[in-house]
Amino acid sequence: MATLSQVASAIENWAPSATAESYDNVGLLLGRPESEIARGIVALDLTPAVVQEAIDLNAQIIVTHHPPIFKPLRSITSTDFVGSMLLRLAEHGIGVYSAHTNLDAARDGVSFELATRLGLSAIRMLEPASGAMMKLVTFVPASHAESVRNAMAEAGAGRIGNYDRCSFMVRGTGTFRAGTGANPTIGTEGSFESVEEVKLEMEVEESRLKAVVAALTGAHPYEEVAYDVFRLHKPSSQTGMGAVGELAAAEGLFAFLERVRVLLNSEGIRFTGSSDKEIRRVAVCGGSGGSLISAAMNAGADVLVTADLSYHRFFEVLDSAGSTRMALVDAGHYETEAHTEELLAERLSEAIPDVRWEATGYRTSPIGTYP
Ligand SMILES: [Zn+2]
Repeated sequence: MATLSQVASAIENWAPSATAESYDNVGLLLGRPESEIARGIVALDLTPAVVQEAIDLNAQIIVTHHPPIFKPLRSITSTDFVGSMLLRLAEHGIGVYSAHTNLDAARDGVSFELATRLGLSAIRMLEPASGAMMKLVTFVPASHAESVRNAMAEAGAGRIGNYDRCSFMVRGTGTFRAGTGANPTIGTEGSFESVEEVKLEMEVEESRLKAVVAALTGAHPYEEVAYDVFRLHKPSSQTGMGAVGELAAAEGLFAFLERVRVLLNSEGIRFTGSSDKEIRRVAVCGGSGGSLISAAMNAGADVLVTADLSYHRFFEVLDSAGSTRMALVDAGHYETEAHTEELLAERLSEAIPDVRWEATGYRTSPIGTYP
């Protein structure tokens, strides 16, 4: 039977928690890693309705996007909103796991999926993470080069854009002499050896380095594995904020707004931009993406679709004549992230198929629109 710890490994493999923002609180927030699970609910937010749903459906885990425990709790009692939910869940043996800004930052995470749902193609990172890329170089006997490369790739090395298993190999000669107490795979103690080896290089994100080094040393035949790690001065293609892509054909701003309204099931959209603005390149960020306005303009986007934009943010897209350089659209926090529930349920079903995963039947947003 599946356990709660498998949820953690499935999500770590997709959206490492090391890529979450420092202010965030992701991972297992309630429960025992060894608990067995057969049914799971996915919800954007934890609400009393979702708690009741999990109890009624006999679920053992709720996976949320927004962490219900965000600020330190002073108490867990039945008299407060968060405390009462956690108390009920603990009483029913139901755990809570949250994947928040690590899922925002992941390629194929919240924003990439939003871009896909809006019909964009050639989707790439809007603001790639910097300083996250490393190069791992190791030296392997030729006979083991492929199996070591595959093990490192499985752990997340060698992913560049839409490609995976990217590596470079060159043959050379490795030398060594085993000292006292050594247990050499090739040769004997005290003998000088010269072996045909392969120098194998792969890129790896810092957040996956530990797992990749463990995979390398696990698959490598030598007692002492030689490897070098370098930091690369290049942006990441796997981690970052937002996404940008192209519509199949340019369309007017109002036609685009209608597409967004229908696809996101939005009750009302706030925007700035003139009706004759042609939309072709679209930048998106699920949830609060006001900080990405300059990145979207630098990427040449015709529009940025995001949420939680304050009044003053809408002035940032105006030029000296007061015309809009880029249209700006606030389609709602819940609306630009609601697809995350299905995305998580699908990915968890693939990774842990013996658990029945489903998105909550509730709209968890506390915000209504009038009329
Ligand atoms: Zn959010």
